[in-house]
Amino acid sequence: MKIAAFIDFQGTLGGGGLDDIRSLKLFPFAAEAVKLLNRRGILAIGMTNQSHISRGALTRDEYNAGLRTLHNELANGGARLDAVYCCPHTDADNCSCRKPRRGMIDSARRDFDIDLASSYVIGDMGASDMVLAHNIGAKGILVLTGVGKGSLGEFRFLWQDIEPYFIADDILAAAKRIVSDCS
Ligand SMILES: [Mg+2]
Ligand SMILES: [Zn+2]
Repeated sequence: MKIAAFIDFQGTLGGGGLDDIRSLKLFPFAAEAVKLLNRRGILAIGMTNQSHISRGALTRDEYNAGLRTLHNELANGGARLDAVYCCPHTDADNCSCRKPRRGMIDSARRDFDIDLASSYVIGDMGASDMVLAHNIGAKGILVLTGVGKGSLGEFRFLWQDIEPYFIADDILAAAKRIVSDCS
């Protein structure tokens, strides 16, 4: 079985507004972080809520174009995401895949042989990413980029019963922690 790092997009891999890949601007250290995971044989799996699709504000073609740009930018830095899963829904759709629900994780487990207890969720939103980690029995690494600081501050009450496994300055520090755990 493999260890996976389930990686949030907005606020974690890059800056930009929520749930719309067109606004994602990769952090300068993102490719290096993903490359560390690639080299260690840890699956790097993107996991993103893109509710603008369900709202009709983002077409599938636009999403796919944004995803290609992301893959190209990572490739330029020598890094790759092994897979990307996307929830296109809003809260009102009441789907099973919108983080912190586990549907995208279950999709990933159909495609890869993943040991969840040894795997990680890296994200900036406690109420979404850290709750997801808790829901699947994985280790949650909260990054302080994006809304990470707010997740530990004014929004801590939304996920108050859950402790992150580790708090990292950014995704590069998160990847270093994972690599050190796995060596
Ligand atoms: Mg995020
Ligand atoms: Zn969904």
